[in-house]
This record gives sequence, structure tokens and C-alpha cells, in this order.
Amino acid sequence: MGIMRVPKNQLEFEKMFTTEGQCIEYMKELRFPEGYSCRKCDHREYWLNNRGVMVCKNCRDELSITAGTIFHRSKLPLTTIFRALWWIVAQKNGVSAVGLQRVLGIGSYRTAWTWLHKFRRLMVFPGRDKLKGTVEIDETFIGGKSEGKRGRGAEGKTQVAIAVEIMEKGTGRVRMAIISDASKKTLGKFILENIEQGSALISDGWKGYSGVSKKGYIHKIESKLNLNDGESMLPNVHRIASLLKRWLLGTHQNFIGELYLAYYLDEFAFRHNRRKSKSRGLLFQRLIEQGVLHVPIDYKSIKRM
Ligand SMILES: [Zn+2]
Repeated sequence: MGIMRVPKNQLEFEKMFTTEGQCIEYMKELRFPEGYSCRKCDHREYWLNNRGVMVCKNCRDELSITAGTIFHRSKLPLTTIFRALWWIVAQKNGVSAVGLQRVLGIGSYRTAWTWLHKFRRLMVFPGRDKLKGTVEIDETFIGGKSEGKRGRGAEGKTQVAIAVEIMEKGTGRVRMAIISDASKKTLGKFILENIEQGSALISDGWKGYSGVSKKGYIHKIESKLNLNDGESMLPNVHRIASLLKRWLLGTHQNFIGELYLAYYLDEFAFRHNRRKSKSRGLLFQRLIEQGVLHVPIDYKSIKRM
């Protein structure tokens, strides 16, 4: 098995993915990095037909490369889906369904929208590492017109917990999630799911954060009393919150509803956490790889979530 091919620029991308066969071949390489072996008889030789079905030369077992992936039974050609992902990773500020529809010449808005949401699912990698080291944490409200009241929901608003790693220089990765309230129980769950135990947590004095030291974290409470004039408490997490809000307004102003906000948070985190990655090709490859290993979803299941 050679080194996986990664497109370096537009020209290379176009050469690599002109035909359905090329896309299938690429997915095959991602699905079988060690080379094909038959799931029934372990034989390692196969035929590949142009519908992406691998046929074992020994027992004739048929395996569809897209079966069990988000590419399965797609109405769009794979070349179009690949082009969409290649375009998406190049957009620094995120993409809307209207934008995707226009760029790809997809006839139906619904199709573009559905794919956009499938693509966002690819942006959450299973088994990803939790945040660690020193982590700032706070909650914020998204949507609605007035400021929400902490600790309980506010009309038309969605509460989001945000955690960000503090590095020696600047900030590291972020995690964010919709939370039903800012109670000790809810925030405790968010912290355990997203931040490695043993890390240092910096929060304000909100009671929802009390008790995190019992969960295995080093807890530092920021207080206004320690600040100079004009200094912001939790400046890093507040900067992320305002970037997120600006990004949502700029890109997704039509769909700030809670139903879809979870996806936008995932996209924001994906982009933010890889903002220093210079390789568009590697980001692209990572998304295709996720797709090859992902379960199929359809329009209905997105609506239900
Ligand atoms: Zn076989």
C-alpha cells in the first residue's frame, strides 16, 4: 500500500476525480488501507466494477464500497459530492445550502441542504481527543433579541456551553454544545464529555461550576475583583463566543433554530480547530474518509434530529 494520494491544488483535484471510477477507487483505498481482503474467505484478490462493487475472485462475494456510508444510494454523482467537499474545505467562513446549490449547480435546494447536513456530520470525528491542559469555560445564549437569564432558558434562545484550551500563545481547540440549562448537572456532563480529567478549568463564580474539583479537575474561579479596568473575565472563551455569533449571522442567518444549531456548532469547531491546517487536501481526505466509515443518513433522519 503506497502513501495515500492527497490533492494539492485545484488542478490535481480535477485530475484525480474526473470520473466515478476514480472516486470509487479513492474510497476503496480509504476503506481498505491495508488492501482488500474478502470478509467471507479472506481472499485478497477482487474485481471492481464501475458501480463500486468489489467481487471476491475466490468466492464471488460482493461488497459495495459505499454500502453503510453516507455516499450510499446517493442521487448525486460521486464526482459532484467530492467537488462539494473540496469546495467546502476551502471556505473559511462556512457555507450555506444556497451557496452550495449555486456552486454545484444542484437543481433542488432540498438536495443541497440535505447534503450540507450530511457533510457536517463528517466534521465530528469519533473518538476525538478531549480538551486538556488549561481550559476556559462559560455559557452563552444564541438567537433571540434580549439577553437571557442564566440558569434557565430564555424565550427563543438557545444556551450553548463553550470550552477553549489556553495555550502558551493564544488559544487551542474549542468544544461547544447546546445545553438545556446551566445547572451543575448539565454543565458537569458537558465538562466530563469534552475535557480530560486532571485539566485545569477556569470559570467564573457561577454555581453551576461548583463541584468540578470533586470530578477530578483543578478549578480556578475568576473574579471581577482581580481585574484591572477594561480587562475581560474569561477573555478567550468570550472571544470564541463572539466569533461564533458573527459567523452564524454571516453564514447561517436563515437557520439559527435550535434544530440545526448543533450542526453549525460542529462545523464551527471543525473549522476553528483546523484553522492552522494549511493542507486543503488533507482536510478533504479526512472528510471523505469519515464518509466512507459513516452510517447512511437520509433527509428524514436529519429532520428528526
Ligand atoms: Zn471471498
